[in-house]
Amino acid sequence: MERIGLFGGSFDPVHLGHLLVAQAAREELDLARLFFIPAAQSPFKPDAQPSPAPERLRLLRLALAGQTWCEIDEQEIRRGGVSYTIDTMRDYARRFPDAQRFYLVGADHLPQLPQWRAAEELARLVEFVVIPRPGQAEAPFPAPFRGQWRKGFPLGVSSSLIRARAKAGLPLDHLLPGPVAEAIRNNGLYL
Ligand code: ATP
Repeated sequence: MERIGLFGGSFDPVHLGHLLVAQAAREELDLARLFFIPAAQSPFKPDAQPSPAPERLRLLRLALAGQTWCEIDEQEIRRGGVSYTIDTMRDYARRFPDAQRFYLVGADHLPQLPQWRAAEELARLVEFVVIPRPGQAEAPFPAPFRGQWRKGFPLGVSSSLIRARAKAGLPLDHLLPGPVAEAIRNNGLYL
């Protein structure tokens, strides 16, 4: 049975924390393919307008260049508005009915999962996989979700940290791939 990973987020911008989640999931779950699914607008960040989608997509493409097992799915961007994971997972269930579908999340999302739209159906459509950030202790999945914790390569980098550092003129090197850091600098993003 094909095993595919699904990784949603704002990716504003993508950073090494995200890429290590992807790499860990690939190895620990033996994934054949992993889809990065950038949200148009996250339901969890209603007050924060993300950077324009073309900018976030451009950085994602730079970050994933040459990683043929990774794909960028633009469906949430195309739909626009608030992006609900259930809409996207219904699409994956239709397109990959026979695949084992793993949805990757950081541990910070775990307590809120029951509030995600159509939680019951979502829990049936995908298996959740938590990849922890540093210091996040393993916790049980709230009903109706089932899933697993994996080790990952815990790294304390976040998009907010990157945006704050870019704004303050601090170096971004080694926190995200070189070409992404360069594009942020050269295009004056997050100033
Ligand atoms: P922000 O700092 O703006 O909240 P973020 O760094 O958490 O952003 P998102 O694009 O919102 O990035 O995250 C997408 C997914 O990646 C979420 O499930 C989040 O928990 C996870 N994630 C982000 N950074 C890490 C990290 N360093 N380690 C593990 N998971 C992470």
